[in-house]
Amino acid sequence: MHRPDCERHENLSVFDLREYGYFEPVAKSGGIRWSQGLEAKVSVDANNGHARFRHGPQNYPVKLTSTPCFFGGQRYWFICPLVIRGRPCKRRCAVLYLVGEYFGCRECYGLAYRSQRLPRSGLVGAFEGFCTYDRVLHIIESLRIKYWHGRPTKRYRRLLQRQQRLAPNFRNLNHFEN
Ligand SMILES: [Zn+2]
Repeated sequence: MHRPDCERHENLSVFDLREYGYFEPVAKSGGIRWSQGLEAKVSVDANNGHARFRHGPQNYPVKLTSTPCFFGGQRYWFICPLVIRGRPCKRRCAVLYLVGEYFGCRECYGLAYRSQRLPRSGLVGAFEGFCTYDRVLHIIESLRIKYWHGRPTKRYRRLLQRQQRLAPNFRNLNHFEN
């Protein structure tokens, strides 16, 4: 049975872009190649909160936002570019997935599956259930207390370890300079 789990879809996280140096003060363009064969051109102007994705016939802007980090500096996020049933999503997210024709957030693709009247326990359930990496990121983001007396809490440390354990299986892409 085909299970549309998150890890099977091409996806791009803000952590990948940070690793490849896209969130520096100077605008940067490059390409990402996924092991499944997809290539996308990505350009990012982090200072102005703009990004642009180009893959296949698609060419569209993706807005960015940032939040301050505990130890200084900025943490960047995607603003989901999808419009579902006439309503722009605009959710802040760390990971975008290519399930349809455009990259979008996990919630949007959950909604898209639902709108096709597929059984909840089937596609939607599987899709949501397999987003383990994304879910860990969400839990980390929603933690109200990450540090206590300047040191990471036990829960925060455990979640970071879990994120690191999941990341290598999750990320299977290559970066190339334009
Ligand atoms: Zn969305």
